[in-house]
Amino acid sequence: MITDAVIVAAGRGVRAGGGLPKQWRSVAGKVVLRHAFDALAALPEIRRIAVVVHPDEMERARSLLDQTNAVYVHGGANRDDSVRAGLEALAQYAEKPEAVLIHDGARPNLRPDVTRRVLAALEKAAAAAPAIPVSDALWRGASGTVSGVVPREALFRAQTPQGFHFDAILAAHREQTTPAADDVEVARRAGLDVMIVEGDDGNIKITRPEDFELVAPFLEKRMGMDIRTGNGFDVHRFGEGDHVWLCGVRIPYSKSLIGHSDADVGMHAITDAIYGALARGDIGQHFPPSDPQWKGAESHIFLRHACELAAEMGYRISNIDCTLICEQPKIGPHQNAMRAALADIMALDADQIGVKATTSEKLGFTGREEGIAALATATLIGDSK
Ligand code: MG
Repeated sequence: MITDAVIVAAGRGVRAGGGLPKQWRSVAGKVVLRHAFDALAALPEIRRIAVVVHPDEMERARSLLDQTNAVYVHGGANRDDSVRAGLEALAQYAEKPEAVLIHDGARPNLRPDVTRRVLAALEKAAAAAPAIPVSDALWRGASGTVSGVVPREALFRAQTPQGFHFDAILAAHREQTTPAADDVEVARRAGLDVMIVEGDDGNIKITRPEDFELVAPFLEKRMGMDIRTGNGFDVHRFGEGDHVWLCGVRIPYSKSLIGHSDADVGMHAITDAIYGALARGDIGQHFPPSDPQWKGAESHIFLRHACELAAEMGYRISNIDCTLICEQPKIGPHQNAMRAALADIMALDADQIGVKATTSEKLGFTGREEGIAALATATLIGDSK
């Protein structure tokens, strides 16, 4: 069955704290929406994913996901409108899907077995959704006291992804006039039987601030060992001046390094090592020297960008090693200040950052003291896909 998915992430709710809408905040080193997207994108059964976001967040979504199987859709005024917009977008393609999964962008910990149970049920039923039987006693309460007990037999907590035969749920959404709690309600109003499949207690919908802490251990356990390394190399020549910037530290010297930015050769090599590990180009592509806005720029702007990109892509930096190659100035006295400066910029511990120096035995351009060269290696640890 050709299956597409809709991820609903258009909400602006900041009830979960942190200033940003919950689906744009990070948990276990990765943006919530990215977790939700990756959980579906990892399954070969799913062809295309419509990501429904607020119109203001379109660019953020594009740069966060950057996947060829993603379609970006403007959300509507409420959840039903957003789901319908996602379904309509998928209906535009020449080969329409036969089935669709509709998933909350705020449920980051979706295990593949849950999705596969929904897909298997769609072979037999027009609609299927995961749920958990209620195990706690259920009360009714009024004015702070228990006013009654609700029998919990046959009660379930609904989860997503909810799956449907595509034409049936699209028709049901088009007929829809009053708001629904979820797509199962929309389907039932249209007369569809919805099969219940086993959900997962870890498939938590982030709603309150504490939900981030609740879901994080589940995600961290699943974060495997995707280890990447990248290297960077840079050279800047000496010119007139009275100081150099090296690895974020200003060192008084009889010359300066020449460059379009502040010419911090060490920081440039480290930045390129991170871009390299991510396979996302180099510093010149992200900050073209032809663009006047980067003239004289402080290099921590570049390094911070590389670190943010790593976080967005689901990687954390394990360590950095940088070697500066020059005869002068002497690096040793500044080594620890450099590690501290870099740690501050990268939000790492100084223990994760090595800075060392060597001469080139008076050979070559560094030996003739015409400039400084720098090498760097970065190791990143990411989510296993
Ligand atoms: Mg450079």
